[in-house]
Amino acid sequence: MTIEAKDNRITYSRRVSCVYCEFDKLPCCETCDGQGITIDKEKIPVLCVKCFGIGVNTSLYECKACHSKGVVERKETIIIPLSSKFPVILQDMGHHAYKQGNGKLIVTRHT
Ligand SMILES: [Zn+2]
Ligand SMILES: [Zn+2]
Repeated sequence: MTIEAKDNRITYSRRVSCVYCEFDKLPCCETCDGQGITIDKEKIPVLCVKCFGIGVNTSLYECKACHSKGVVERKETIIIPLSSKFPVILQDMGHHAYKQGNGKLIVTRHT
């Protein structure tokens, strides 16, 4: 995921694995094969309509903590040193993607 830095202190929200149902162990969405995207007739990737891009089959389980999405939104605050060169790339600080762990966070400078 990419965010724009207006300040050196940044608050953003990202998707992290639900601690109650463990995102990576949930049944895969059969429509998109866990990818979260499907390819339409014009060969353009589109957000999977069945799982809304999350990649799991939400009809097969019930979890109240995450509303059966496998992920929850979490607010994060990071401080980017003033001397940083943009874009700043932070490993494991992006969205948690199904079976791929936490993604990268790319911080670009607001212009
Ligand atoms: Zn859950
Ligand atoms: Zn899907």
